[in-house]
Amino acid sequence: MTELITTNGVVTGVRGERLATDKSARGVRSTRSVTGEFEIHASAVVIASGGIGANHALVREFWPERLGTPPADMLTGVPAYVDGSMLRVSEDAGARLVNRDRMWHYVEGLANHDSVWPGHGIRVLAGPSGLWVDAQGQRLPAPLFPGFDTLGTLSHLRSTGHDYSWFLLSSTVLGKEWTLSGSEQNPDLTGKSIGDVLGRARKDMPDPVRAFKDAGIDLVTGSTVAELASNMNALTGDNLISSADLGKLIVSRDAQVANDFSKDAQIAAIHEARRYRGDRLIRTAAPHRFLDSQHLPLVAARLRVVTRKTLGGIQTDLSSRALDSTGAPIRGLYAAGEAAGFGGGGVHGYRSLEGTFLGGCMFSGKAAARGVVADQ
Ligand SMILES: Cc1cc2nc3c(=O)[nH]c(=O)nc-3n(C[C@H](O)[C@H](O)[C@H](O)COP(=O)(O)OP(=O)(O)OC[C@H]3O[C@@H](n4cnc5c(N)ncnc54)[C@H](O)[C@@H]3O)c2cc1C
Repeated sequence: MTELITTNGVVTGVRGERLATDKSARGVRSTRSVTGEFEIHASAVVIASGGIGANHALVREFWPERLGTPPADMLTGVPAYVDGSMLRVSEDAGARLVNRDRMWHYVEGLANHDSVWPGHGIRVLAGPSGLWVDAQGQRLPAPLFPGFDTLGTLSHLRSTGHDYSWFLLSSTVLGKEWTLSGSEQNPDLTGKSIGDVLGRARKDMPDPVRAFKDAGIDLVTGSTVAELASNMNALTGDNLISSADLGKLIVSRDAQVANDFSKDAQIAAIHEARRYRGDRLIRTAAPHRFLDSQHLPLVAARLRVVTRKTLGGIQTDLSSRALDSTGAPIRGLYAAGEAAGFGGGGVHGYRSLEGTFLGGCMFSGKAAARGVVADQ
């Protein structure tokens, strides 16, 4: 779709382009070669075209000051069609776009070794035990531990002057605690197999995680700290990691694990997580020293920002009617889902609760359906 058709101030349909058939391989950008055009006329048009995460130019243009400068190097965590093109088209038809600086990106991105779209990044859903350090090997301040505060960590990392950070892990933590986001990375869940989900507790490492370890470009290992540091420096070419400092950090972390009275907030959080049986079984490794030979080799994962959610968008009323710059509904035009900032133009505010985005899509979609029916 490339245009909204407006007749006497009422949106009455859409125009679009037919693209040439394309047999490009998976992960490769498909053709934009136009073979024809089409029009569809209707009494109502609902924009549900998603956000802007695959359009890095737009992400950078609206990147909020509160999150520092936008990264030069980012991975793409949404399909290539999530390019914001319909937001511009809606704006051209008079819709008001609001809260464009509200966005939600992850800092735990790995390059997919089997990309579905160009620059595809997969988010690591890490358990609590990884030691998170910046590009120079400095531990992130409490409480910026894995899985704790997405935007707080993003803001902190943007102040470090580098576009990546590292998770430091033992092999045991990698196998026990890592889950990767996305349907392909969770065949047990998408296959609705309770047995396979429970089987996670028995495996030393899930197959998708092993595939990233073996075929991905972001994970390096070392049977000693010196070897790990050398491999980390070789991966980035930046030479920012001091083996001596990294060794001190891991030894001091390991000492806290052995200390029953540890005041390390992350170690306390690991113990807390293990009080819940589900986390204890498949999500949180029993506390151990990373340098214990049973848990080697050490693992370092280079993490980059992976774009994801657009929290602002087309402003609507409670019936998902798109509003113009005066706040009046544009007749015939509605917006729902991420294109409408998950509802209204930004129902989540600046932050959100992890995993609650689909709810806003469905809720605003239902409101749009009701609005369309009421307006007929
Ligand atoms: C890997 C991943 C994991 C996620 N996990 C969660 C989660 O656990 N919980 C949660 O709540 N949310 C999650 N989300 C976010 C959630 O999936 C999205 O916010 C949601 O799918 C957006 O739905 P939508 O219908 O608004 O847009 P989309 O699902 O993006 O659909 C947009 C549609 O519009 C079409 N389109 C776009 N532009 C045009 C155009 N110009 N012309 C014609 N068609 C167009 C596209 O082809 C697509 O079909 C995740 C997202 C990803 C990518």
